[in-house]
Amino acid sequence: MSEKYDLTIIGGGPVGMFAAFYAGMRNARVQLLESLPTLGGQVQALYPEKMIHDIAGYPAIKATDLVSQLAEQMKQFPIDVALSSAVTNVSGKMGDFTVTTVNGQVSHTKAIIVATGSGAFEPRRLAVDNAGDFEGKQLFYHIPSLDQFKNQTVLVAGGGDSAIDMALMLEPVAKKVYIMHRRNRFRGMEHSVDLLKASSVTIKTPFLIKALAETPAGQLNLSMKEVRGTGEETLVVDALIVNYGFIADNKVIRNWDVSPSMTNQLFNVDTEMNTDVPGITAIGDTVTYPGKLGLIASGFGEAPNAVNQLMMRLYPERRSPLHSTTLFEKQAKH
Ligand SMILES: Cc1cc2nc3c(=O)[nH]c(=O)nc-3n(C[C@H](O)[C@H](O)[C@H](O)COP(=O)(O)OP(=O)(O)OC[C@H]3O[C@@H](n4cnc5c(N)ncnc54)[C@H](O)[C@@H]3O)c2cc1C
Repeated sequence: MSEKYDLTIIGGGPVGMFAAFYAGMRNARVQLLESLPTLGGQVQALYPEKMIHDIAGYPAIKATDLVSQLAEQMKQFPIDVALSSAVTNVSGKMGDFTVTTVNGQVSHTKAIIVATGSGAFEPRRLAVDNAGDFEGKQLFYHIPSLDQFKNQTVLVAGGGDSAIDMALMLEPVAKKVYIMHRRNRFRGMEHSVDLLKASSVTIKTPFLIKALAETPAGQLNLSMKEVRGTGEETLVVDALIVNYGFIADNKVIRNWDVSPSMTNQLFNVDTEMNTDVPGITAIGDTVTYPGKLGLIASGFGEAPNAVNQLMMRLYPERRSPLHSTTLFEKQAKH
């Protein structure tokens, strides 16, 4: 049997990351399971370049920098992090829960903190029948590494900030970059749109991708159709990167064997962040209670609450809660 964790945190958004750090401070054996290939939740997936102005202690911080700081903070403790690991089932009871992930990994934990936000994210996929045949070969939804597109002809589909950022990031690396959007106006911030217009990226608007086919040389033949018009074009590219945003869905949680009560897909919690299943707490955007705010700052406040009260139940002999200075001194003596 694998090691039994004290706490398993499900969801590696900002709130789950802070909870993992805090659990480390409490000397808990902790694992953090995240469905996406990267940590940071909505902050990293939806608005990495946005400035956030309502994090205590930071007059302003870029979203992606906040995630990096949280990752640094977590690194101080031996936290087991598993990415691309959506939790598909939780069974058992307080002291002995079994957690199963989409890739079949099974782990055991005494208690659980659910920090799943509005659910597991998935990229919004291209609505072309045979798109799945090209995924991972010529069609991508993330940029795993810029080098992969070196000297290639690439088309980025999408009109928001992250699509524009992708096109601008690829410009110095790729042979040729196109960006295609279904409207003439981009949704990105004015400054990003100005940079795009001043770049060598060729803009194709208002177009939609209608069909995909592979050329004999293994490239992608894109058929594009003008939106509300009759124009049609074809373009041969090495890679198509689709950036149509993400969809979040909590339905996987509804299939868990243990099922804490929910209202409108959000976990009902008390003032200590307990759900109605002993040993399972929930924090961040995934909870509801009177006065709940869907803000990072609120989730950061809920995390120590959940960790401390679970640790108090698991280890009633330990004092709780302590101030961080005392906790770090205790860690140093270990
Ligand atoms: C455009 C935009 C701008 C915003 N601006 C601000 C702002 O300026 N200030 C502010 O305070 N808030 C802002 N917010 C809200 C803020 O982003 C959220 O409050 C915050 O992200 C909540 O964090 P979280 O960790 O609870 O959830 P999330 O960030 O949603 O993270 C949850 C994580 O859990 C993972 N997950 C879900 N299901 C599973 C599963 N079954 N197994 C494993 N992992 C799973 C998801 O993949 C995700 O990574 C903004 C939100 C948006 C969309």
